[in-house]
Amino acid sequence: MAPLLELIDWIDQNKLSQEKLDTLYQAAPQTECPKTCSDCCRLTEEEMQGDIAVMYPLYKAEYFKIVSYIHKCFPEETVKNLLTLRDERPQICPFLIVKNHACLIYPARPYLCRIYGILSADELEMAKSLYQKKLPESWLREFLRMDSCLICEKIRVNDSGKMNYIDQRARGEDARALWKLSCQVPPHPREIEVESLTEGTLLIWTWGGFNALYASEESWFRSHFQEYWKKTALGFAPQVRSEKSADCVDCEEG
Ligand code: SF4
Ligand code: SF4
Repeated sequence: MAPLLELIDWIDQNKLSQEKLDTLYQAAPQTECPKTCSDCCRLTEEEMQGDIAVMYPLYKAEYFKIVSYIHKCFPEETVKNLLTLRDERPQICPFLIVKNHACLIYPARPYLCRIYGILSADELEMAKSLYQKKLPESWLREFLRMDSCLICEKIRVNDSGKMNYIDQRARGEDARALWKLSCQVPPHPREIEVESLTEGTLLIWTWGGFNALYASEESWFRSHFQEYWKKTALGFAPQVRSEKSADCVDCEEG
């Protein structure tokens, strides 16, 4: 069996990881978007000039969840088309059904797509004052930097659980959970092969980037991956804050 299919099997059988991923997804406040909007699933010409990307960051565990989902739900041709996309930063998300403003993989869409628009500019300001002396400056800066790119004025958000959600985001607990789950996915032989190039295990990338690594044909991988990697702007093995350091801040506060 091809390594990619073995990993999909592992994802399907490893219910614990899947449940943890689903629990994290379900903890985000519920949202409702207008039926005629899909603005966050594509980039404007102006956004294309910057460094924003749709569906980014996509964690390794999420990539395999989506691969497993499309294998189960779509015909072989569709799966093949989706897995052969290698554009690291497409202007339109490959899963957007443009004419319907719908998401082809809605039940398996990644975390970022689920949290887009949850926090308003006012709530970010409130969080900034609330956590200014409670969290390390770099944590707060990163949280505010990321979430200020996710503001949406058209979305409706169910506020129940919002404060817990803000706390989890500000402390980076959701990112840490996604990182840990991604670490649990067994390594693909290609990952090990390119580790000296990538300087570690790639835990975050994009759909196109992960496809280049895991789903590309052997001949393409051999002759092009190295060059592809040299041009990447979005693939990396993140330095995630340790639980210990988070606890230490809490202790100091106490
Ligand atoms: S989050 Fe905002 S931009 Fe994205 S689809 Fe919903 S309403 Fe549109
Ligand atoms: S995965 Fe779905 S929700 Fe996320 S950007 Fe693509 S089309 Fe939009």
